[in-house]
Amino acid sequence: MAYWKGLIEEYRAYLSVTEKTPVITLKEGDTPLLYGPRISRKLGNGVKVFFKFEGLNPTCSFKDRGMTMAISKAVEEGSKAVICASTGNTSASAAAYSAHAGISCAVLLPHGSIALGKLAQSMIYGAKVLAVEGSFDQALALTRQLADKHPITMVNSNNPYRIEGQKTAAFEIVDTIGDAPEYHAIPVGNAGNITAYWRGYKEYKQLGKSTRFPRMCGFQAAGAAPIVNKKIVENPQTIATAIKIGNPFSWKSAEAARDESRGLIEAVTDEEILEAYEMLASMEGIFCEPASAASLAGVIKKNKEGYFIDGERRIVCTLTGHGLKDPDAAVMRSTKPTVIKPDMVDILKALKL
Ligand SMILES: *Cc1c(COP(=O)(O)O)cnc(C)c1O
Repeated sequence: MAYWKGLIEEYRAYLSVTEKTPVITLKEGDTPLLYGPRISRKLGNGVKVFFKFEGLNPTCSFKDRGMTMAISKAVEEGSKAVICASTGNTSASAAAYSAHAGISCAVLLPHGSIALGKLAQSMIYGAKVLAVEGSFDQALALTRQLADKHPITMVNSNNPYRIEGQKTAAFEIVDTIGDAPEYHAIPVGNAGNITAYWRGYKEYKQLGKSTRFPRMCGFQAAGAAPIVNKKIVENPQTIATAIKIGNPFSWKSAEAARDESRGLIEAVTDEEILEAYEMLASMEGIFCEPASAASLAGVIKKNKEGYFIDGERRIVCTLTGHGLKDPDAAVMRSTKPTVIKPDMVDILKALKL
């Protein structure tokens, strides 16, 4: 039986690795593309919505795609230590891949803005965790200064190998459905992922593996929407912590992805994000983290505005991370369990049986 070897081996021909590159892999990639029948029906119009569930990567977010490349190249270049600033998932991934490579890892996190699961991951994988009393953007600036002056490799999305690894998600989608979809919806934070998908779709089209370009539809949280508002957000606010970013690193390339693909980058409110988050879990059985649901929230919003032309249209939504990353969000959004005596009569009554 053929088994998945991790994305570097599977897509080696399209990545800047050589036979000298030590492949550091936790068998990331090969995530499912799930059709959402109930959500598609609810949207009407004959549109078909698919979910690329990146929460099923080894550390439960798409960051692993970039990290297998970044850490492999860091080890190839002789690096013994890496560093990143993170809203949680980059640090979880960097910590895991560093542990697997046997090198050390330091992470700078904005204090108080990290979902519990992500913090737990960075800690147990053995990274040196610093909780900076400031924003993600401040943590990123400090990380850059550190990496400039010290022999330590920075693995934020300024690291070109991250974007390169992440483009393989677009390859997988085309390999699965046989062509590119008409639309691709994606949450936008630092904007590395929208950049990476667009690159992947372009490369595959050039190679003749697909016949079309999808329109790239990026969605930022309304309280953290610098690209939409064309202005740096000094104090970003949103419950979607993974996209709580006021000054995205890949701002320009995200705009290029939007414009070249004739797509859009718009904002969705926290309430719209949470509604989509809950719909995914309760209607489709797919539990992603709040930031991930920005893609579906955006699709629902644009569908109401009549953006998707009627007929057989495929929309792929990237769900960037797993719901268990942020258990507090799920508990807060749900009805509390009914506490009950171990008594059949009471149970029957509560279940209305
Ligand atoms: C990193 C991350 C994002 C944002 O991706 P960018 O490449 O920074 O735009 C969105 N959702 C989750 C869960 C993430 O971890």
